[in-house]
This record gives sequence, C-alpha cells and structure tokens, in this order.
Amino acid sequence: MKITGIDTFLMQVGARPTSEPGAKAAVYSDFRGGRNWLFIRILTDEGVYGVGEGSGWPRVVETAVKDYATLLIGEDPRDVDRLWYKLFNGSMGHGQLGTVGGGALSAIEMALWDIKGKVLGQPVWNLLGGAFRTRIPVYGHAKTPKQAHELMALGYKAVKVSFTGAVDVDKVAAVRDAVGPDVDVMVDAHGPSWMTPADAIRVARALEPLDLLFFEDPVAPENLDAFRRVRDATDIPLAAGERVATIWGLRPLIEEELVDVVQPDTGRAGGITQMRKMAAMAEAHWIMMAPHSGSLGPVAEYAALHLMATIPNALMLERLEMDWPGRGTVITPAPEVVDGHIALPTAPGLGVDIVPAEIAKYPSERNVLELPADDGWAFETGTRDEAPYAQMRLKRRLKLRGR
Ligand SMILES: [Mg+2]
Repeated sequence: MKITGIDTFLMQVGARPTSEPGAKAAVYSDFRGGRNWLFIRILTDEGVYGVGEGSGWPRVVETAVKDYATLLIGEDPRDVDRLWYKLFNGSMGHGQLGTVGGGALSAIEMALWDIKGKVLGQPVWNLLGGAFRTRIPVYGHAKTPKQAHELMALGYKAVKVSFTGAVDVDKVAAVRDAVGPDVDVMVDAHGPSWMTPADAIRVARALEPLDLLFFEDPVAPENLDAFRRVRDATDIPLAAGERVATIWGLRPLIEEELVDVVQPDTGRAGGITQMRKMAAMAEAHWIMMAPHSGSLGPVAEYAALHLMATIPNALMLERLEMDWPGRGTVITPAPEVVDGHIALPTAPGLGVDIVPAEIAKYPSERNVLELPADDGWAFETGTRDEAPYAQMRLKRRLKLRGR
C-alpha cells in the first residue's frame, strides 16, 4: 500500500471584513466568532483515504502539508510513527516546536491513523490500547447566565467563562450562581503578556470562593516563573498548554507540576501519538488532560474523542457548540452532545468524513486578527490604549477594589 497524494480543503466561516461606513474594524477569523478550518485527505493506491485536520494558522499549515506531501508519496501509510519522525526531522530548519509545523504533523498523522483503522476494520481507539470509556465528557463556553442555561439545556455539565486577560470576577460569579453547585465552572484568562503574577494572584484569590474546576492561563504560560508564583499563591487548579506543540513544548509545564491540567490542541500538538505521549508524561505527575479546541473544526474533534477514550487521565474535551451553525454540515456524521458527553465513534478509522461540496461553499480569504482600536490591544497612539499594560492594570484595580 502506497501514498499517492494529499488533497487539502481550506474553508472560512463567520466574521468577514466589512466596508460599511462607521463599522468597527474588520475582524477576520479565527477570532471573534469566525473560523478558518483546514481539512486534508491522504490518498492511496488502494483507494482507501484518510482524513485529518490541522490548525495553528490553517492557511499557512496548508502550505506546510503540501511541502510534507513530497516526503510521503510512495510511502506505506501504515508506518505511522516512522513517517512522523521522517516529517519531523524533515522540517528541522523551520524550528520544530512551532504550531504551524505541529498543525501539519497533526493533520497528516491523524489521517494516517484513519487509513490504518480503515484497513484493519477497527476504530482508531481500538488500535491505541482500547477504550476506558464509551463516551467523552465535553464542556462549553458561556459568558452569561443565559448562555450557561442554553448549554445546560443541551445537556452540558461544565462551562468555561473566557476573558482576554482582565477577568471579571462578578461575571464568573453570575455564571456560577446560574448553574448551581453541580455544574463545573472554569475560567480562561488567555495569559496575556500584560498580566503580572501579582494581579493574577489577586484575581485568583477573588475567584477561590467560586469553586472552579480550573483557572486557565492566568499569566502567560511561557513565563514559568510567573506560573510558579501563581501556583504557590492559590488553591485553584491551574491549566495551560494550548499554545505549544510536541512533547518538548509541553515538557516544562509538566515536569515542574506548574499545572493541574494540560491542554494540548488536537489540531496542532503534533498528532494523536504525540498527545498520548503527553498524557503519559502528565500521568506520571498526577496531571489531567483536557484538550484545547478553541478554533478547531469537527475532524480534529473526532481525533480528540479517540484519544480521550484511551488515556486514564482524560478530564474533559473543550467544545465550541455555538461557534457556527453549519459546523455539522461539513462533516458526516455530525457528533451530538447527550447528557454532557459525545459517544465514542465505532466505525473503522476515525469514523468521520468531510463533505467537500459543503466546504467549497466557504472559501478562505484571510486569517489574522485585525485588532479593534478600542479594546486596549492595538497600542493605538493618541488614545488611552497607547499604554495598554497600564490601562489593563487600572481596569483590574478598579474592578477588584469594589469587591
Ligand atoms: Mg484557552
């Protein structure tokens, strides 16, 4: 059996640029509601193909996948681990821990597992040691009590409240009140560069009475010293890991036990096997895994289900239920959340295929965040946001003073 080629399928949905007079700055996906998704199919001489998905800047990852294809054509797709190392070493000159390369490796490795499962007539989870569980718990995103109730109506038993650095403790408290004590609540601060450990600790202490499942990226996770200080100052479990690829990228957070939960992203961590290795490293330190979804599409979500079935320290899978209503139309079959869980697929391979005719309806144009000038992100000269570090600290100070 030999690989004959790789087809790529890029799509964009959600927010688009606008030229309307008076409109706010144009916003492009993956941010603020929009999405860019890259799917691939690895083709073989026997007609079997595998599907995969890569994130980590999908439009750029597509180019990386096409480059990698030259190393794969003629190879036996069932040699999953050997081919992974061939590709990994083949990108040595590009910086091997980056998420663009990680995205390409993830998409390809996922598709190789899909082929292997189809050839052997087994779901991927059964090739990875078998399943601990037949359904995977998921959590959704809610910023308001109303959104939390909508998720609970769909069966969700855990919700995350997300902020860009300046955590609003009152909003978290409102969600906690709305869902009651039996639903898990998490907070994500997205580790902005301007969050100091001292401020993160103040926020963490204010959040402590709300009984969080975890506090995600309270400071920039690249700053290990800052994480150490926050960890030592609060009893809220900490989470991080979405920004890095490969076991070497995640290693520092695990080895020092700076977090209680690691969150590699199934579309850019480097592949299913990389994530199983990460899970084993975490297990040795009594750390749980809750894979990041963020801007991920529905094929990588399937890969995460297979992974989560096979690791003992699986916590929950992140899910953006309400990001785009067509989410379930570009793949088949679409997963369904029942009682806060998604059932483990049982078909051979990953158990999912893409629908190219649907994907083709949503061509990709661009994939960067155009920073809104009124939000403290753009360092806009002549406005209060020319000093966003100070502004953000001031906002937090005023907010926390009222508590
Ligand atoms: Mg996050």
